[in-house]
Amino acid sequence: MLQVRNLKVRYGGAVLALQAVSLDVPAGAVVAVLGSNGAGKTTLLRSVSGTLAACGGAVDEGSIEFEGRSVVGRPAAALAGDGLVHVPEGRRVFTHLTVAENLRAGAFTVKDRARRAAAARRVHELFPVLHERRDQRAGLLSGGQQQMLAIGRALMACPRMLLVDEPSLGLAPRMVGRIGEVLKEINEQGTTVLLVEQNAIMALSVASHAVVLTLGTVTLSGTATQLAADQSVRDLYLGIRAEPDEEETAEREAGSGDCEATPAPAGAGARLGRWEL
Ligand code: ATP
Repeated sequence: MLQVRNLKVRYGGAVLALQAVSLDVPAGAVVAVLGSNGAGKTTLLRSVSGTLAACGGAVDEGSIEFEGRSVVGRPAAALAGDGLVHVPEGRRVFTHLTVAENLRAGAFTVKDRARRAAAARRVHELFPVLHERRDQRAGLLSGGQQQMLAIGRALMACPRMLLVDEPSLGLAPRMVGRIGEVLKEINEQGTTVLLVEQNAIMALSVASHAVVLTLGTVTLSGTATQLAADQSVRDLYLGIRAEPDEEETAEREAGSGDCEATPAPAGAGARLGRWEL
């Protein structure tokens, strides 16, 4: 469904953010892109969704095709109309608008009233809290609810492929788990998902396939099961060591207090011991 080949992207004609990145997302799949800060994950999604130029970036080389058609140079609204919809990092909801107004804004590319109504029903079934709070300003929602609204707003555009950037960022572990379940449900309803995450545990529990980006290059790819079993992924992104020594165990126990409220940085998996794939 999505085919990225030898993609090279720069910002401001100078900063090389991606080099020779290739990636396939088959229809019906959830593919995760893992990597630490600055690896190029967001840049990859911007390149696919047509939002790269607005951030000062440009495709230097390579190709991106969605359902056989090049997306490079096409505006984001046109791509959204084709079913390729981006949920940006940082829950960018319109805080001064109500929940209902945010959702209506998401449907602006959908002209057919019946499709809009069906999308609204889907969003309310997935996120009943958004229906309950439809008249509240989005800025008054909790972080988790704002993430649900950001995903719900994207679903209002009737995507065939959803591009989701770090939905776990800044959320408590229980909410991260809920977001992961919702992404699975969205996929089971027929929407293909390209998921960018630093939280490898959540991402690999949702995805069928994954790639690891390191400094703008794909350094590993495979099924989620293969990557979860790969020792370098386990060390770097899952924080699972084969035999932790006593000192590490003591550090882990001492550091577990902030786990509920703090997002997990890459490589800090020692504090994520409770998560299981
Ligand atoms: P994070 O998890 O921190 O969001 P990331 O893996 O998504 O990281 P990108 O945000 O894609 O990484 O950044 C890749 C590289 O491009 C980094 O070196 C970053 O500093 C640079 N970069 C990103 N956005 C811009 C921009 N708008 N202008 C200039 N350089 C940028």
